[in-house]
Amino acid sequence: MLTNMLAIALAAWSALGAVFAVPTIEIADSSTSTNADFRAYERIWAAWTYVETGECAIWVSSGWETQPTEAVQRTITHEVGHCLWLTHHNGEGVMGHGDGFDLTPADRMELWRVHPLSFRAYVPGVAR
Ligand SMILES: [Zn+2]
Repeated sequence: MLTNMLAIALAAWSALGAVFAVPTIEIADSSTSTNADFRAYERIWAAWTYVETGECAIWVSSGWETQPTEAVQRTITHEVGHCLWLTHHNGEGVMGHGDGFDLTPADRMELWRVHPLSFRAYVPGVAR
């Protein structure tokens, strides 16, 4: 199920119109982490990108099954955003504030800020 949510998150981010390479993303149980901070908290979600190997691990708390599906999907989409090097922003959206589950123009702007070269302007009706 988390693998499906990962695919949904990647589809949502790529649907914003950017073309960029995505690191290998692994889902890991935070209770098995070698990081004591990850194990110490009851509920921790985190994404950690390992530049050397080109991989990103999303650490998931073992109690995720008891949370509403939409909330888990939002969290996975948020953590995938971190795997894409995005950070939190002050607007409404999955990387910002609000309760919505869909990516917003503010999320798109954050993706654009981090990956500007992957975006191309498209103006209908204008020859290029
Ligand atoms: Zn975050």
